[in-house]
Amino acid sequence: MKLKFIGTGNITAIENSASYLIDDHVLVDCGNGIVKAVGQAGHEVNDIDLLVITHLHGDHFLDIPFLIMKRCFTGADNELKILCPKGTRKAVDDLMVLAYPDVFDFPAILLGAHAEFVEYETESSSHEYGKYTINTYPVAHGAFEDAYGLTISDGKSTIGFSGDSAYCENIDTIVENSDVSVLDMSFVKGGYEHMGLDTMDIIINKFRKPIYATHMSKASREKGCQINLAFLHVPEDGDEIEI
Ligand SMILES: [Zn+2]
Ligand SMILES: [Zn+2]
Repeated sequence: MKLKFIGTGNITAIENSASYLIDDHVLVDCGNGIVKAVGQAGHEVNDIDLLVITHLHGDHFLDIPFLIMKRCFTGADNELKILCPKGTRKAVDDLMVLAYPDVFDFPAILLGAHAEFVEYETESSSHEYGKYTINTYPVAHGAFEDAYGLTISDGKSTIGFSGDSAYCENIDTIVENSDVSVLDMSFVKGGYEHMGLDTMDIIINKFRKPIYATHMSKASREKGCQINLAFLHVPEDGDEIEI
């Protein structure tokens, strides 16, 4: 699988919001600014036919209305599945009303975009789309209850994503089941809502597998680059790897 880092920053960083494009057509998270960022990274946004959302924080889902509008207004004719936590369809509906109070025909726009929301369970769940298997796992994101990590497999290799999470049992499950993992390294020191560089050290010592840090602040990125930890990679926006 081909993994492109569209965004590797947290909300305080100058980098794009955390988002990843797999094989040019599967997108993980669609936070603020990501629709334009995908285009600026040289990809055709309308080629995305599967969008997976980890949780309903703005830096992970705020651009879904723009993705839907772009598809509708530019005549995308392929189907788009949006695999997302419960409540996403309503949250996107509410966002549309807030952002464009004059637009009353959101259902028609959604229809024109050929987009369908598939809301997954709060427990771990498994989904098949073409050659891909997506497994979702609840993770620990502070007081925010509905946050998920996931693995995506094409039958040959598997990529894990922590989403936004503190260190918890399902982070171990994700890393264990993946060849390469993309993990939240918001801080130098991990805490209640996010992991940190110290957490990466613990995970690497336990699994000895490649970890790509993401959702980084300026400080955690700088420290991550300085420390030169085996197995830890600190990608920049636009980097692409083959797994
Ligand atoms: Zn979050
Ligand atoms: Zn976030």
